[in-house]
Amino acid sequence: NGYSILVDTSKCTACRGCQVACKQWNQLPATKTTNWGSYQNPKDLSAETWKVVRFADGVNGNGKVYWHFFTDQCRHCLSPGCMAAVEKDEIVQDEKTGAVIFTPNTKDLDFKATLEGCPYNIPRQDPKNKQLFKCTMCFDRISNNQIPACVKSCPTGTMVFGERDKIVDMAKKRVQELKKDFPQAQALNVDDVRVIYVVKEDPKKYYQYAAGK
Ligand code: SF4
Ligand code: SF4
Repeated sequence: NGYSILVDTSKCTACRGCQVACKQWNQLPATKTTNWGSYQNPKDLSAETWKVVRFADGVNGNGKVYWHFFTDQCRHCLSPGCMAAVEKDEIVQDEKTGAVIFTPNTKDLDFKATLEGCPYNIPRQDPKNKQLFKCTMCFDRISNNQIPACVKSCPTGTMVFGERDKIVDMAKKRVQELKKDFPQAQALNVDDVRVIYVVKEDPKKYYQYAAGK
């Protein structure tokens, strides 16, 4: 069973509290940002940014403008594609929680193959020591009965952490509610991932890899 995180994007206001909380808890350095014409900053995930709120806008067929927020992170897959490149114990999956952990030994992995194995474009490499990094599901917190830092910081209830069965039920219920107003509402890859995103419409309008490659 293990744990899951619900990310109900319909409630996200893009405050980026989760992004900052992730940096703080994991003692990751701030990333130097530049104005690149979007509120999305930093521009992408990196070895020192394990969670990033992606911004996407456009115009729907009916002429209405949309502005979507997608707080992107590792999905902690049930059968992780990133592990395809593993030879020994470079990447491990914790039995109790289900968290997928990149160990310091990931410095020996073929980065390109690991990235290609991940459907969600998540692993990133430290250019200096070659180690690979991503979200740990706050493994140090959840193994001490504390919820992940991002979930704790979220002021809108977008993210909920709990037993996987309960989170899957919550996601499915939320989709049914949203479907009344948004017929395309869906929960992404429910059977494959532990971090379950709920979106109001076509996931590609949120982020290219929202629902996988
Ligand atoms: Fe691995 Fe990517 Fe799945 Fe995370 S999202 S567990 S990096 S395959
Ligand atoms: Fe969205 Fe919650 Fe993250 Fe703020 S903390 S950006 S509301 S998911």
